[in-house]
Amino acid sequence: MSKTSRRGFIKSAGVAAMAPAGVSLSQGTVSAAKKESQHRTSFTPNAELKKVSENLFYLEDTCNVYLIRDGNHGLLIDFGSGKILDYLPQLGITQVDWILHTHHHRDQCQGDYKAVERSIPIAVPAHEQHYFGDAENFWRNRRVFHLYYVRNDFNTLTENIPVAQVLHDYGTIRWSKRDIFVLPTPGHTLGSVTLIIEVDGKKVAFSGDLMHSPGKLVNLWDTQVNYGGFEGVDLGVFSLAQLREQKPALVCPSHGEPLPDPDTGIQQTIDRLTDYYRFQTGNAPSLSSRGYAVSPHLIAHHLTTSSFYAILSNSGKAMFIDYGSASGTHFFNFERATATTDRIRFVEHNISDLKSRFGMKAVDVAMPSHMHDDHMNGFPHLIKHYNTQVWCYENMVDIFENPRGHNLGCILGEPFRVSRSFQDKEHFKWEEYEFEVTHSPGHTEYQMALFVSIDGARVAFTGDALFSNPDSSESVLRHNLIFRNHVESDSHLKSIRNLIDHEPNLLAPGHGKPFLVNRGDLLMTEEKLKRQTRFFHEIIADPDVNFGLDPSWCSLYPYQMIIRAGESSSAEVRVQNYRIAPLKMEVALVAPREWHIEPEVLRFDVPSQQKVRREFKVQIPKDWRPAASRFAIAADVMCDGKYLGQITEAVVEVG
Ligand SMILES: [Zn+2]
Ligand SMILES: [Zn+2]
Ligand SMILES: [Zn+2]
Repeated sequence: MSKTSRRGFIKSAGVAAMAPAGVSLSQGTVSAAKKESQHRTSFTPNAELKKVSENLFYLEDTCNVYLIRDGNHGLLIDFGSGKILDYLPQLGITQVDWILHTHHHRDQCQGDYKAVERSIPIAVPAHEQHYFGDAENFWRNRRVFHLYYVRNDFNTLTENIPVAQVLHDYGTIRWSKRDIFVLPTPGHTLGSVTLIIEVDGKKVAFSGDLMHSPGKLVNLWDTQVNYGGFEGVDLGVFSLAQLREQKPALVCPSHGEPLPDPDTGIQQTIDRLTDYYRFQTGNAPSLSSRGYAVSPHLIAHHLTTSSFYAILSNSGKAMFIDYGSASGTHFFNFERATATTDRIRFVEHNISDLKSRFGMKAVDVAMPSHMHDDHMNGFPHLIKHYNTQVWCYENMVDIFENPRGHNLGCILGEPFRVSRSFQDKEHFKWEEYEFEVTHSPGHTEYQMALFVSIDGARVAFTGDALFSNPDSSESVLRHNLIFRNHVESDSHLKSIRNLIDHEPNLLAPGHGKPFLVNRGDLLMTEEKLKRQTRFFHEIIADPDVNFGLDPSWCSLYPYQMIIRAGESSSAEVRVQNYRIAPLKMEVALVAPREWHIEPEVLRFDVPSQQKVRREFKVQIPKDWRPAASRFAIAADVMCDGKYLGQITEAVVEVG
């Protein structure tokens, strides 16, 4: 074995064997130079390297650091203090291609600066990348007083570490002629992943701290997200079941010993944690949520974060109405955890159950009842992994395809393609079913009601428009009101009138179980909603009340702009005139002075009850450097000669 000098190693390490073309590792070296002011300690683990199989080794460092060898190349799972680097020469490894992290805790990565100094690229879970690349910003913003969000993200690095690649859930990456599968396994942290790789002929799962050993976790505090919550236990049970389905031959945890034949050990952990979760909360874990047959061809899932439905055709194809998160735990924790650069995390659920219990063969089409993330954050997954087509009511298309355009409640940030869209009152056929789509505003302007006969029932899928009353003596349906979703004074009335006209006998709502309705209930609900409209008129000062209901009657599009120095861009002003007379608008942008904005003032009329769009051209100088990577610009507005001021804004990100 040739002795590799440290200098030689530094030179040879870090060829990005699985990096996409163009990933530059030089930036890591630059950052490292900037960080040399940090004190480093001389502590070192006193364990020795252990051999698991011919090419799989681990060192018990601040966490277990796993090393996979392929000839003179190595791949590391987590990094601890970085002590593992000292063992490479004796194993004949001259080049470490990657460090892959299972999660962001400091014990996994506190030595990463050493890897940066050696230009070893680091790949991290997509949902935790900001804890590495933007750790210092995390610390500028992490609330400590009024601490109710008790998630242990305090165990985050104290310095930024450059991220060469992110590990996307359900993605595969290639290293040395093998695929590494990224299984999302939230539990110990919300963004944790398990990495599944074949080593020495065995399917090995590097599971981070999902479990320590059969029936045991390394600690419980990391499983708590909210005050008094048991979220990580619930999520961990779900993730362990997904891991078990992968049938690994060896599970390699970050703390504890590698576990051969892990099936029983995983199940034991699931069982114990399920008991513990039931004891603490009185509830069944998310894992036990299952759909039920409302009728032979309509399967309802009401324990998922939002209800979702599978309409089954005789061919075995399914149409999903909505498909959100696996459970409330899977939605609300990620919703609160989502950094501005991040997305709510989705894990697959119920598909194998629909196949095995109800004979479903394919998810052919998915239709969103409305544009809210809790109802469709599984759609990108269905498109990518099940070849599903998304069909929707026409006014949702731009929100799904250009989510940055809008500032509305509950938008999913991940754009996806819509295959087909429908107009109000359009009829269409899918398999043996006849549908009618209608516009159903109120909960949001971007909502449909979908009517179809299934197994003899006249079903209406109504999203979040109306819910059954929990007080069963009251048959008036419940509604809700969220101004950021775009609501106008008669929106709810339009929806209820539409239902009365279609006379469904089963409402399938966006939350809760389907329930029977009759014309009397709907008429009483209409009376209640008329009362709401009267309230709007009584309370809002402007006689054209929609100016007091719609915060975006004057808006900038796109709401979230991505701008690059040296490029030109456009910013559109959109004005909805709710008056019976035309509006005279004068609009100017309040933006960085170095930008060239054309024209200086936009002057235009908006006819009564119309929406008008006008465009600013924005030119960003090549040498312009923003003060912050994310900031706001505003629109200063004169309307009919009255100075309203900066009534709307957009967020700018510098790409
Ligand atoms: Zn950890
Ligand atoms: Zn909603
Ligand atoms: Zn909802």
